[in-house]
Amino acid sequence: MTTQMATHSELTHPTICPACAQPYEQCCGPLHHENAVPSSPEALMRSRYSAYVLGDYPYILATYATAPRQQLTVQALAESAADTRWLGLTVLAASPITTAPITPSQNNSQCLQGEVEFKVFYAENKRLYCLHERSLFIQESGYWRYLDGTMGDANGEVLIKRNDKCVCGSNKKYKQCCLPKVA
Ligand SMILES: [Zn+2]
Ligand SMILES: [Zn+2]
Repeated sequence: MTTQMATHSELTHPTICPACAQPYEQCCGPLHHENAVPSSPEALMRSRYSAYVLGDYPYILATYATAPRQQLTVQALAESAADTRWLGLTVLAASPITTAPITPSQNNSQCLQGEVEFKVFYAENKRLYCLHERSLFIQESGYWRYLDGTMGDANGEVLIKRNDKCVCGSNKKYKQCCLPKVA
């Protein structure tokens, strides 16, 4: 099985950002197109989510911290998300930026870091899931990068009724919103 690889020119350029619900060219667009860099862990987190929605796997790879990035490839990222339909992101909390010790193998002994807690809803194999994660971001050479994450209590499959309010934050009923994308 081969995975269709999207290049920058083939990516869709949405009007409204799927991560930020505002004009794409005012938030994640400039980051994806390397005309700006994320100013905070939350901005990076949102831009990585919208990159997943848009299939911009090179951006996702490039925004991992060095250690995890060395274990990954664009192809592996694309394959891991090939059957995933992204339904929505809710950022729950962003910690203050702190200075913390990092691994001894790094050159500088301290680095800036911050955490972002979020929920992402997605469909896979006709089931609805929640990715509930507290992500850890660090600065490397002045750029925010994703290091790793800890799963939250809500992580896992979501059981929802047709008439319940949809998980994506639309305020519509599930059957009138994301259910068709799951089923
Ligand atoms: Zn955005
Ligand atoms: Zn929905």
